[in-house]
Amino acid sequence: MGSFTDTIECPQCSGEAWIEMYYKTGEEVIGCPDCGYSKQFVIVNKETKSSVGEFEWVPDFKLEEITGTGAYKLREKDSKFYEHGSFNENLNEALFIQMVEEQKHLLAFAEYRIYKDGVLQPLVTLIQDDSLLGPFTTPEELEKDFKNTTNT
Ligand SMILES: [Zn+2]
Repeated sequence: MGSFTDTIECPQCSGEAWIEMYYKTGEEVIGCPDCGYSKQFVIVNKETKSSVGEFEWVPDFKLEEITGTGAYKLREKDSKFYEHGSFNENLNEALFIQMVEEQKHLLAFAEYRIYKDGVLQPLVTLIQDDSLLGPFTTPEELEKDFKNTTNT
């Protein structure tokens, strides 16, 4: 699938958010690693394309915007990449802390930040084991690797 990733100013917290644009389909996904804001402008009826026929098919776009209440970043011990995610109605701060506590034997890194009343709260680091990064990998390089892997 043809896409490229860039960074934009987050519409919610003005931080640096990433945007992935699918130039063949016109789809767009935005995510903010600071406040957890996310926006998805995606086609929801792709599976009907084969039954309708390529030329008769009309894409049905759906816009979903999620107000961020925070975001987290995790890395498992045997993984080279960070996993980013947002807090939402199914995952709040307390649940996240509980989840990290339960899985801490698997994790090399866990960090989160709450976005409340229009203000980014200080970063909270739960687990940080730099010895597991290896001698030639800095956190910035891991971040870059993460971005590169989202290009498909
Ligand atoms: Zn943001």
